[in-house]
Amino acid sequence: MDRAIDVRHHIGGDWLDSAGGRTYPKTDPWTGALFAEVAAGDAEDALAAVTAADAAFPAWSDSLPIERQQVLLRAADALDRRRDEVRGLLAAETGCGVHFAEVQLDFCVNLLRQAAALAYAPAGQVLPSDLAGTRALAIRRPVGVVAAIAPWNASLVLAGRAVVAPIATGNTVVLKPSEEAPYTGGAFWAALLSEAGLPAGVLNVVTHAPGEAGAVAEALIADPRVRRISFTGSTVTGRRIAETAGRHLKRAVLQLGGHNPLLVLADAPLDRAVDAAIYGAFVHSGQTCMCARRIIVDRALFDDFAVRFVARAAALPVGDPTDPATVVGPVVNEWALSLLERRVREAVDQGARLLTGGVPAGRCFPPTVLADVPPTSELAFDETFGPVVLLEACDGAEDALRRANATDFGLTAGIITGDPYRGLDLACRLRAGIVHVNDQPVNDQPQMPFGGVKDSGAGRFGIGFAAEEFTEVQWVSARQEPRRYPF
Ligand code: NAD
Repeated sequence: MDRAIDVRHHIGGDWLDSAGGRTYPKTDPWTGALFAEVAAGDAEDALAAVTAADAAFPAWSDSLPIERQQVLLRAADALDRRRDEVRGLLAAETGCGVHFAEVQLDFCVNLLRQAAALAYAPAGQVLPSDLAGTRALAIRRPVGVVAAIAPWNASLVLAGRAVVAPIATGNTVVLKPSEEAPYTGGAFWAALLSEAGLPAGVLNVVTHAPGEAGAVAEALIADPRVRRISFTGSTVTGRRIAETAGRHLKRAVLQLGGHNPLLVLADAPLDRAVDAAIYGAFVHSGQTCMCARRIIVDRALFDDFAVRFVARAAALPVGDPTDPATVVGPVVNEWALSLLERRVREAVDQGARLLTGGVPAGRCFPPTVLADVPPTSELAFDETFGPVVLLEACDGAEDALRRANATDFGLTAGIITGDPYRGLDLACRLRAGIVHVNDQPVNDQPQMPFGGVKDSGAGRFGIGFAAEEFTEVQWVSARQEPRRYPF
């Protein structure tokens, strides 16, 4: 980056400083250089954004599908043309490496193209009525203003996923990005879509300083003009959001954390299992919600698997995210780095075996593998967002299943087996929103029903599924003749 970006709020089509005039610095997690000077907004800015979104709703919800479709298709083409620039921005803002930046770009271009068709999705059904002479309809209507709260970790995808389907279905949006990704997870989307012709006020973005998310989110959720909440982030924050949304009787789509198991059964081809586990545990430096956190390996394979897996993990290139060879880049901030270090140290103090890694190297945490982690240690039961993975031996497929289900989370899982039919049977008994047989847990495509069960959340993203989350079904009936009433 030649010079830092100015990130302002995007409200009603204008780029605005915060009402309070404050900014905060956002730095590059790898170089430590200033990446952006960001508007540090508060509840007043959030409410101005809601006013703009509310004012834009009548015209946007009434717009022709072809208008919505063309905006989304133009944005898709523009994003596709800007790949090199966006890769650099993702690296500088969030430490995202080249491979995962391409994953994000592919997803978002496809998301925009698929959402363009959503503008033409059937908007309801004609229902048979038992009242003679009555025609009954179930009509899908946009809900109104959607408050979208997004995390930093796959900033482009997760902000895009939060805004594109709601906009395609005729809603207007206030997006509150993470303080760690105010540009690629916020202002960038507003600029991309407004340059593609999105009318002013349809997408608004409000940023805030670290530690000040609560007041902005609370103001958004409490405002009566906001009709739906879309939240992606940690389970701890999601619980707060759900509590606030519940108090205001608002429906919230919650995409939360995971503690995802990868099961390696006794009949698994070892090479394939190791390849899958390496990718699933360490892609994007272990900083996706879908990453494999526990690898549950049949005892018959455990020692061989562990030797090969640890050797591969220890040899993964660590460092500069802009180097295409790098697999594990910087951790997003000091707090996250020290959490990783503390949790690994505590597990080892409690008796875990550290097989590789465990000690930070500058801004990076190296690929770290532990075995025999006691169930009481935080690593064993809580999501630890980074390149740390636990190996666990099991005795047969039923034991693997029991162990995999012994968690409060339920986001993704993978099963590696020589018998896909048995894999499918186990998949149906895994309490997870997403299971891949003969693949690791990190997968996403815009059309797939993405979401978790238990503490991993509620609701589904995915074009088509999201259309249901961000529309309301209205029952409308009409009669030609007056109805005869009994009294
Ligand atoms: P986070 O929970 O810290 O932050 C998410 C969002 O909530 C951010 O916009 C943040 O500013 C906001 N926030 C923080 N504190 C808040 C508060 N008190 N009140 C209201 N809002 C608040 O999560 P993160 O560190 O940005 O992202 C990583 C987490 O997100 C991981 O737990 C990961 O598993 C999860 N995640 C889930 C999915 C999914 O689809 N299930 C996808 C990506 C990430």
